[in-house]
Amino acid sequence: MNRDMDESILKHGPWTVKPAGKLVQSLELQISIERGINMPRPPMLLIGLLCVPFLLWCKNDPAYENYFDDKTLRIDYFHIGDSEREIVTLDQVYSYGIWAGSRIHLIDRLDYGRYTIRVFDQETGRLIFSRGFDSYFGEYQTSGPAAEGIPRTFHETALIPCPKKPVEFTLHKRDRQNRRLEIFRRTIDPDDIGIIRDSVLDSSVQIIKTHTGGDPRHKVDIAILGEGYTREEIDKFRRDVERFTRIFFQYQPYASLKNGFNITGVLKPSEESGIDEPRAAVFKRTALNASFNALGSERYLLTEDNRSLRDIAAHIPYDTVVIMVNHRRYGGGGIYNFYCTFTSDTQFHEYIFIHEFGHSFAGLGDEYYTSSVAYNDFYPQGIEPVEPNITALLDPADLKWKDLLAPGIEIPTPWEKAAYDEMDYAWQKRRREMNDQIAELKRSGAPADEIQRAEQEYERKDREHSQKVDAFLTGSRYFSRVGAYEGAGYASQGLYRPMVDCIMFSKGSKPYCKVCEAAVTTVIRRYLK
Ligand SMILES: [Zn+2]
Repeated sequence: MNRDMDESILKHGPWTVKPAGKLVQSLELQISIERGINMPRPPMLLIGLLCVPFLLWCKNDPAYENYFDDKTLRIDYFHIGDSEREIVTLDQVYSYGIWAGSRIHLIDRLDYGRYTIRVFDQETGRLIFSRGFDSYFGEYQTSGPAAEGIPRTFHETALIPCPKKPVEFTLHKRDRQNRRLEIFRRTIDPDDIGIIRDSVLDSSVQIIKTHTGGDPRHKVDIAILGEGYTREEIDKFRRDVERFTRIFFQYQPYASLKNGFNITGVLKPSEESGIDEPRAAVFKRTALNASFNALGSERYLLTEDNRSLRDIAAHIPYDTVVIMVNHRRYGGGGIYNFYCTFTSDTQFHEYIFIHEFGHSFAGLGDEYYTSSVAYNDFYPQGIEPVEPNITALLDPADLKWKDLLAPGIEIPTPWEKAAYDEMDYAWQKRRREMNDQIAELKRSGAPADEIQRAEQEYERKDREHSQKVDAFLTGSRYFSRVGAYEGAGYASQGLYRPMVDCIMFSKGSKPYCKVCEAAVTTVIRRYLK
């Protein structure tokens, strides 16, 4: 998610699910014709046709060696639809490399994310692998165009350990009540001659290791992909990867678990420096085709070119992808178990990197709420959000972070919310006005120095406000005490965060709150065995 997402993106809520209709069936046919895919029957179980209870087949995870080889199976597929309908069609399946993920924690018991990959052994029906995630398509479903019924296609990838025998590969999605619905099922035979087994090597790709903790099979392997760096900027890429590796280990819990990580920069040089800025009519030819203005939001930065992203990342064993964008403008985005992005040279580079990584790696939710006034629908009322750091406080006696509460703290915890709101809403209004002015200058072709002055003025005010917020929050009588503070997840009321401040709440060089830190630690530890 991104701090700057438009109201229109968020107000529709992400969980609307209805049975697929004629449109979807015709789309399925259309896609199968376009891609030349021979659609098997019955390959596709559409949303709403099946509601599968979240069964765990066995208490223990399966033994890796009984079901999997030490290889990665990459399953690419298309995710198609609008706000109410969606289908999935298979693209290509690849087999390569080693399996970089855990061999012990094959079943995802964290249960984060809007979607879940589940893999069943075909012979026994046993669940042998699962993984929660979010996707760009899932974000698109919350946008204005999707609500108007305009279908779009996104390319996605599921990485699973390569099975020894045929498996049932399925995708499930949550409905508004957080129940899981199966939306896709396909048999995958690891001996299928259609599986692509090419070498992944691209001789132009540069690999730069900046931190080695050990065997990738037992570590968190972070691939930092460079975007918008030209061949002449390879040294800058190297310096930037080293710089962000240092920044990463300045934060907890990463510092304490430093030996649990491998960090590697992977660069396919771009033809041009920088990336697309559609609102300024700037377009660059780059390796990953990342762009500002994702989903119409000026500072939301994503790529839809998943195939290039996966082809480049495949040069190393990886668990999680970070896209480092060679740019000085403020921008970023983070989608759980998908990827995150950040710009390398903005004044808030450190904040964006650590904040967005919290989303993409650990499934943390946004704790802020003042950036828009229309976010109440994002998390349906009366439903507990799945994110570990946000609660609807439906049962105050059973708070999800009750083990970390400050002794004797009042729940919900009173804080200086009225004064904070007054200060921050005023800035959000001013911020929007200044952004609109800058966009207008760019559109009207104003001189570069005039645009630069306006941007510098904005950056200065943004920094000043951030410092003011820091002073306000650190001065709170509840600062650093874990409680349940109203205002979180884009909602001023009805949702609660664990502490007054956190890097998931406000901008700046600040730690994760204790609950976020604990949640990140849990995820890291799942990769270490
Ligand atoms: Zn937090």
